[in-house]
Amino acid sequence: MFLDPISLLFIIPGLILGIYAQIRLSAAYNKYINVGVQSGMSGAEASREILNQAGLPDVNVEEIGGHLTDHYDPMKKTLFLSSENFQGRSIAAVGVAAHEAGHALQHQAAYAPLNFRMALVPVTKFANFAWIGILILGMILGGPFFSKFLWIAVGIFAVMTLFQLVTLPVEFDASRRAKEQLFRLGLVHSEEREGVSQVLNAAALTYVAALVAAVMQLLRLLLLARSSRD
Ligand SMILES: [Zn+2]
Repeated sequence: MFLDPISLLFIIPGLILGIYAQIRLSAAYNKYINVGVQSGMSGAEASREILNQAGLPDVNVEEIGGHLTDHYDPMKKTLFLSSENFQGRSIAAVGVAAHEAGHALQHQAAYAPLNFRMALVPVTKFANFAWIGILILGMILGGPFFSKFLWIAVGIFAVMTLFQLVTLPVEFDASRRAKEQLFRLGLVHSEEREGVSQVLNAAALTYVAALVAAVMQLLRLLLLARSSRD
């Protein structure tokens, strides 16, 4: 039911945008991971400096494995930076590390979209597999159940789409805070701004792509639910 021509029409645009965003991110990241930052700072040092200057010496900066696995964990009050960005002294490393520090600054400022997103995390973890489970259950039971279960799946999927939506202001704002601090503290020089922006904008586009994919999928589910009314 998800591979009919109409469904593909809803899935393909999000898929193409997602692939395009990944290619752009790889291109920008691979370019600027090889361009040394003039301040000579590593990602770990730059984010440490931003955190200290913001009065957040208690937020830890730790190294983790994997590629672009960088994230801020609000529960552990820790920035986790992939080795490339933790140790790297490049424009890309400093940009990504500062972005993660930006999330810690949001947390400190009780930035509303971040709080809302954090509240949605456990719900989304459940919703991630629940909507497809409900859908399969509806198909097994069949008949009048199918329509009702389809509507439940629509509701659960709408929560996931909402999560993708609130992720956007959180990500854009973290990058804005990152750039502000990098330039204010002189960790990145004016001629290096363009590179930082390119890496962070490319990363943001992947979140836009995820939202587009979720909205299209939600629309498809809505149309299916409407047409299956008993
Ligand atoms: Zn982020």
